[in-house]
Amino acid sequence: MTRWLGLAVLSLALAWPVQATPQERVEQVRYHMGTLWTVEAQGQGASEAMEAAFAEIGRLDRLLSTYKHDSELSRVNREGSRGWVGVSAETRELVSRALAVASASGGAFDPTLGPLVKLWGFKHMDYRFPSEAAIADAKRQVGYGHVQVDAARGIRFTKPGLEVELGAIAKGYAVDRAVSILRARGMTMARVDAGGNQGVWGQPPEKEGWVFGIRHPRVDGGVLGWTTLRAGGISTSGDAERGFWKDGVRYGHVIDPRTGWPSQGVVSVTVLAPDAETADALSTALYVLGPEAGKSLLGRYPGVEALWVTSELETRRSPGFPWLAADPGPRVKLGE
Ligand code: AMP
Ligand code: MG
Repeated sequence: MTRWLGLAVLSLALAWPVQATPQERVEQVRYHMGTLWTVEAQGQGASEAMEAAFAEIGRLDRLLSTYKHDSELSRVNREGSRGWVGVSAETRELVSRALAVASASGGAFDPTLGPLVKLWGFKHMDYRFPSEAAIADAKRQVGYGHVQVDAARGIRFTKPGLEVELGAIAKGYAVDRAVSILRARGMTMARVDAGGNQGVWGQPPEKEGWVFGIRHPRVDGGVLGWTTLRAGGISTSGDAERGFWKDGVRYGHVIDPRTGWPSQGVVSVTVLAPDAETADALSTALYVLGPEAGKSLLGRYPGVEALWVTSELETRRSPGFPWLAADPGPRVKLGE
């Protein structure tokens, strides 16, 4: 298993200020939602708070996973083409928010791309290069406009074979839920990291905020630069984790819904946002849109900043994206 080298955003700065009264500090890594999660917290009762945060992550995995046959979302996908499927308010609201990002991004973000994700082998990492005919077939089974959400009745699909897959937003939501549990339990600081999606809150290890290294998308262990965040979410979408090479071209797991092909032109996007769910969803959308078209989407989300790395390995940043090109020095160190 790749450890932090496999993550697009590396957590730095694990040096802690000395506390007048020692508080418990905990950090643990566990596997959920197909990725490694780190929960880190400081405060009184930190161990119990961390357990509660992990329990919440497990609950959301069981609710929202499309890898689990008995999740609520899998049931919606099995039955949604036949009529309304009653669901929890939580699932309904998350699906509604995913549809809102789909609409705001002009469909660049689309939570119904499951058939294409599977066709290219990104779901189970059995990558293959499909025929144009197979891509055209799969494209006919997608389209976020065919998902209907109703507060009283639940969710239904107006196209047979449609399915909803929240792989580009659910981890961010679960990060936010876990951070809010740590906050509610009085932690003085909290960090939750789900393979490229992180949420932080509370007293940062460094004066200017939490410091994150932006992974070089093509050099193992390389760092392009550093950014900072006081509280909220940071998420990277990229082709490094899930993807394959063919004839010198990298095909990553973010699909461009317009073509049905893995999106080209950008190799990673890092988004800073007031919460991890927004960072997660927008990093996927902005990966597809690229730096030019992405600007107008960013304009709709106050407090959100983005950094793109293009396939020429050039970086483009929105004006407010904090950027430290120089090594922040020995006071910060790479995560484990
Ligand atoms: P992320 O790592 O958050 O960018 O999410 C990528 C995952 O979301 C993929 O593995 C797919 O399951 C799914 N996905 C791929 N392309 C898109 C897209 N354009 N919009 C929404 N979800 C997508
Ligand atoms: Mg995402």
